[in-house]
Amino acid sequence: MKDYIEGDRGRLEELFQKSLGAQELPEARPLCQVCYHFTGELADIEVGFVGASEDEYYLVANSPEGEEALKTLGYQGGGDLKEREEALKEMKEARRQKRRTYFTEEFGSQISGPDALLSTLHDCTNCHNCMRVCPICFCRECFFDSDALKVSPDNYLGRARKKGALRLLPDTLLFHMGRMNHMSLSCVSCGVCEDACPNGVPVSRLFAMVGDRTRAIFDYEPGRDLEESIPFLDYREEELQEWEAPYTQSTTHCPSSS
Ligand code: SF4
Ligand code: SF4
Ligand code: SF4
Repeated sequence: MKDYIEGDRGRLEELFQKSLGAQELPEARPLCQVCYHFTGELADIEVGFVGASEDEYYLVANSPEGEEALKTLGYQGGGDLKEREEALKEMKEARRQKRRTYFTEEFGSQISGPDALLSTLHDCTNCHNCMRVCPICFCRECFFDSDALKVSPDNYLGRARKKGALRLLPDTLLFHMGRMNHMSLSCVSCGVCEDACPNGVPVSRLFAMVGDRTRAIFDYEPGRDLEESIPFLDYREEELQEWEAPYTQSTTHCPSSS
């Protein structure tokens, strides 16, 4: 597990002060360094420093309830947010670009291909900590903790005989690929799974990167709109045919089907 802020209270305070004015914090989680959702626009009241001069800050009401609360506290509102909005737009675009580069040229290139992926997950001991802390993995009983995957020693022996050998611990890839399939569309890049990993597996970056790619296909963004349904729940028969085509064509030309 990794502590991002080590040391005493003074160090914490120093980092907090630095974070108020800084755009880059090397001590932050890897995913926080490439996050472009760093404002609280879904909160009733947002406290903002971006675009403000030193010793000033913005209090932004994002809902009628927020407005009411600020009025009750004596704030009249009506301030100009133009400088803040322009500064935010620039920062967010820079972060988007940084994220794209990180997931394509840096981290992305390290895990590209089956061998690199297996090597990335090599230290995984299948403890499922990453799943337990994930805010999206809220199933009452996780499939990967269920009896369906509790197999007898004979099962392992049978599989080892059949394949010639069996990697222990088994099924780590099944766990990650399965979990990725279940929830990576909704991964919010919070990074806590990677914090909770006892073996330093870059699991949050892997899930966030795959999530970015699959979300781009569906033009979906988790949390953007409460009315927007998850692509899993919105089945359309005519979509993604360009992905299916290679498989349907190879089935058509399969000798056994003629
Ligand atoms: S980074 Fe994604 S997968 Fe990891 S805990 Fe957060 S939401 Fe879950
Ligand atoms: S891995 Fe799948 S089954 Fe397990 S908690 Fe997450 S979404 Fe649910
Ligand atoms: S990635 Fe880390 S936290 Fe997740 S199952 Fe593997 S060892 Fe456990």
